[in-house]
Amino acid sequence: MRDQARVVVIGGGIAGCSALYHLTQEGWTDVMLIERDELTSGTTWHSAAQVTNFGMTQTMVGLKSHSIALYKELRDDPEYPVGYNHGDGGIRLANTEAQMDGYRHFASMARGMGVEFEVIDAAECARRHPLISTDNLLGGLWDPTDGHIDPAQLCQALARRARLAGAEVNRHTPVTGLTQHPDSTWTVHTEKGDVRAEIVVNAGGYRCNEIGAMMGVSHPVASMEHQYFLTEDIPAIAEAGHRMPLLRCPISDYYCRQEKGGLLLGFYEQGCRTWGMDGIDPKFTNDLCPDDLDRVTDVLEGAFARMPALMETGIRSIVNGPITYTIDGAPLVGPIPGKRNAFCIIGLRAGLGEGGGHGWLLAQQIVHGEAQYDTWVIDPRRFTGHATVELTALKAIEDYQNEFRFHFPHEHRPAGRPMKTTPLTPLLAAEGAEFGTVNGWERVDYIKPTPDFSETLGFRFNEVHDLVAQEVAAVATSVGLTEVSGFNRFELTGKDVHGFLDRMLCGRVTKKPGRVGLGYLLNHHGMLKTEATIANIPASDRGPDRVWYGSAAASEYHDMDWLTAHLRPAEDVTIRSLTNAQTILVLAGPRARDVLSAAARGDWSREAFPWLSLREAHIGIAPATVLGVSFSGELAYEIHVPNESLHAAYLALRKAGEAHGLRLFGARAVDSMRLEKGFLHWKADLLTEFDPFETGLDRFVKLDKGDFIGKPALLERVENGPRRKLVTLAVETSEAPAHGGASLVADGKIVGTVTSGDWGHRTGLNLAYAFVAPEVAQEGTEMTVDILGEPVPARVIPASPYDPGFDRMRA
Ligand SMILES: Cc1cc2nc3c(=O)[nH]c(=O)nc-3n(C[C@H](O)[C@H](O)[C@H](O)COP(=O)(O)OP(=O)(O)OC[C@H]3O[C@@H](n4cnc5c(N)ncnc54)[C@H](O)[C@@H]3O)c2cc1C
Repeated sequence: MRDQARVVVIGGGIAGCSALYHLTQEGWTDVMLIERDELTSGTTWHSAAQVTNFGMTQTMVGLKSHSIALYKELRDDPEYPVGYNHGDGGIRLANTEAQMDGYRHFASMARGMGVEFEVIDAAECARRHPLISTDNLLGGLWDPTDGHIDPAQLCQALARRARLAGAEVNRHTPVTGLTQHPDSTWTVHTEKGDVRAEIVVNAGGYRCNEIGAMMGVSHPVASMEHQYFLTEDIPAIAEAGHRMPLLRCPISDYYCRQEKGGLLLGFYEQGCRTWGMDGIDPKFTNDLCPDDLDRVTDVLEGAFARMPALMETGIRSIVNGPITYTIDGAPLVGPIPGKRNAFCIIGLRAGLGEGGGHGWLLAQQIVHGEAQYDTWVIDPRRFTGHATVELTALKAIEDYQNEFRFHFPHEHRPAGRPMKTTPLTPLLAAEGAEFGTVNGWERVDYIKPTPDFSETLGFRFNEVHDLVAQEVAAVATSVGLTEVSGFNRFELTGKDVHGFLDRMLCGRVTKKPGRVGLGYLLNHHGMLKTEATIANIPASDRGPDRVWYGSAAASEYHDMDWLTAHLRPAEDVTIRSLTNAQTILVLAGPRARDVLSAAARGDWSREAFPWLSLREAHIGIAPATVLGVSFSGELAYEIHVPNESLHAAYLALRKAGEAHGLRLFGARAVDSMRLEKGFLHWKADLLTEFDPFETGLDRFVKLDKGDFIGKPALLERVENGPRRKLVTLAVETSEAPAHGGASLVADGKIVGTVTSGDWGHRTGLNLAYAFVAPEVAQEGTEMTVDILGEPVPARVIPASPYDPGFDRMRA
């Protein structure tokens, strides 16, 4: 074993082997994999190893397409062919119209990635899968590429190719410790000696937290026991004359594929079990958990009803093994928060299907700093301090129990809630608030008309539509109040703060004390990294001159890593997170100034406190920092209050608002209003796949200022012209919004993808943002958007259809 490598990957399952191979593909060959036992001796060896192209975001579909293309290439390699049954086809079943709508939407989204799924009815499902009955079945989603692969051969093939490219693979070498040096490099301690590495990658599967502990981190990953069995041969399969397609069933939570002349059936039972929560026996390797088919009888009954042939077939063998889950079901692939030169590729629950793609995107991140797709859906930093293993276990159980029941828009499942609350949460609940969660924070979605009101979840407009309309009307005509919990906020102090921010931001953001500005941060490729509100707070009895950097609720770890990574040792800048210490109350509407004036001493007139001003004040008796900014397009104030004073500030505003008909509103109303103003959401519309000009943020970029991160790359990009442009569309239907991911078509060709969509209640327009080809980006251009399987006419309209002069928010 060498004593040095640029990258050491710890773990030789599909995650580690794929990461190692793809690092060599990206040109880094001084790389090493260290495995405690044999390759694939964790979960990988006993995987059912199904490989589907299905995903719920374009990034997931794209990375699975990569897996499939790679696996086909490995299958066809004459020197080491891998067993891969590609193209058996697969059906995701459905027995509700809402599920069918979901499939229609996912098919539209996948089409934009060059992947064709088909939504089929129950009779067609049965025609393609002759063993199934159509009882309690509406139809399904057909994935023609579905299949399964030999997991051990796959890993051996990847390791073999990596070795041929120069990588080293060390088996039977447990990693026992990790030491990080002041220059951020590592010593990897193993039972066979030390290895010095620039970068380490945790690919430890269900042992990822043993490796995490070696570097002082706890990953939000928990393991579940998961079982499948293999049947004896089934005569009807031989009689069918073709291989059986795969099945995935959200009605009874099982999957099924052909294995030789019989079937392999895997279960997601309600009485499921976590595994290894209190430590894992070091001798557990190449091993299984004791099988327990009694636990899965609930699910088994559903499978028998769907495939009666199963009842006449014997069981050949049972497999029960640990499988890893995260808080939201997607894995953690990317930089480890709070650490330098440390990455992970863990929490994979469909690692065989996805592993090829995850290793590819991870290697791109390590080598180039960013991957070709926006990887936020798998970014380890998308969870922050609340993401404990305890919470993960609760969410893992919930996710396991709902394995094939995808989340509907606006669905916030109950496990592990409430996790993060403010002092107002119980008060708002008493006022009828329905909460959603944002990065663990409870946040008001809308106000329910009656305590027993419940939303019919689905992809079409429903009964909440009218409630949101009423909230928007109150904000537009009078005044509304809402709480924005968990908004990310850093306090920057020191004499070099403005110089530092100048280097980080691509525009010229105000440095004037008492003023507020909006800025964008790019990565080294000139693409959009993040968005920040910069508030310059003058020295006062509350502290010295300081800057508040505010950004999206889930961006705390992401932005902190980005800022601190670019801080120069000699720079006098201290960054402190206030995210958990302060909460925002938003007062919005034409009467907002009247309410503020009644609740807080001082002159709040337009002249004394114009738009984009900032002032420290008291709301009643509560200390607060008031910013004159608006995300609704109405006159609005963001009132930042320390959590211990939040209740007091809220009561003062409610009291002052009584005379003006103040009513509460929620995030759904905010989302509708921001779409009418051309305001963008981080990671919905602001993506690392596009530069600020493509995103329509020209006014926030100043190419004539000094150096800033991403400038050289951006200048190059400008030379080449835009590949896509963000536009606002008016969509001609009142049935459903255009959900993020929906495909746009012009002249029979896919010309773009929707990022966000919702009804604009003040304009009466069904609105969507989309990245489209430049030739269809001009105002007035017509196209169609595929909404739930229907081609709906859509037209490019101006970016701010409501109050285009921005007069109302400046009033
Ligand atoms: C029953 C079952 C069925 C499944 N079916 C499917 C399916 O159909 N399709 C699909 O896509 N996925 C499926 N999965 C999930 C899939 O198998 C996993 O997502 C995948 O195998 C995880 O791979 P991994 O590399 O992350 O982890 P592992 O395979 O567990 O690899 C981790 C490796 O790290 C090594 N390691 C740990 N600690 C150390 C250390 N200190 N030093 C050195 N090495 C260390 C381990 O020995 C191990 O080899 C299934 C899982 C189960 C349990």
